[in-house]
Amino acid sequence: NEKLRLDRLLNHMGLGTRKEIKKLIKAKQVMVNGELAMDPGLHIFPQRDHIEVQGEVIEYREYIYLMLNKPQDVLSATEDASDKVVIDLLDPTYHSFNPFPVGRLDKDTEGLLLLTNNGKLAHQLLSPKKHVPKTYYALVQGLVTEEDVAAFARGVELDDGYRTLPGQLKIIRSAPQSEIELTIYEGKYHQVKRMFEAVGKRVIYLKRLSMGPLVLDNNLKPGEYRELTDEEIALLQ
Ligand code: URA
Repeated sequence: NEKLRLDRLLNHMGLGTRKEIKKLIKAKQVMVNGELAMDPGLHIFPQRDHIEVQGEVIEYREYIYLMLNKPQDVLSATEDASDKVVIDLLDPTYHSFNPFPVGRLDKDTEGLLLLTNNGKLAHQLLSPKKHVPKTYYALVQGLVTEEDVAAFARGVELDDGYRTLPGQLKIIRSAPQSEIELTIYEGKYHQVKRMFEAVGKRVIYLKRLSMGPLVLDNNLKPGEYRELTDEEIALLQ
């Protein structure tokens, strides 16, 4: 049963800087278990104590989990000097949780990106040892063939000599451009694009559909996001 300082807890929940929160407390705007809180350093047991700020109940949580449909032209990063980053897409109320993207999608790749502040979970999903499956949809220039399916099933050699693990390639449509789905179990730099380069083809559109048990919500347009449901969070643990 973790305890937290009142000002830290309110800061985490996005109610302001420590200084602003001190002022709120001084102004008698914060109640703990039905009593006015006067001490920013008051010890709080978040699971047990009832907190209200200006009459609003504060439901404490340590972690947030957001499913983003990453749009093109936005970087999978928390900050960048010149480009827009995925964190810029979020409502500012999420910023105090310090979410970060779990892994990366290329600037021109769309689709499922999990944002969280749960470092342990991120680590598990990204661990090369865990072989978490990731499924992509792609438009590919050129005719993707059953030979490519067989080559991907064996693993292909990338431009740097690395031999990929077997991947499952499914041809959805093969003319005029090929439409495919590919599931891979690792995450090398530009892996999907480089796997197609290895068989002489070029990816012209790429979208991630799933990562482990997490499937991109069809209702999310590029740039939109939502919190994971309790069921989705449980599947990831
Ligand atoms: N493979 C790629 O080539 N790019 C991505 O963004 C993800 C997987």
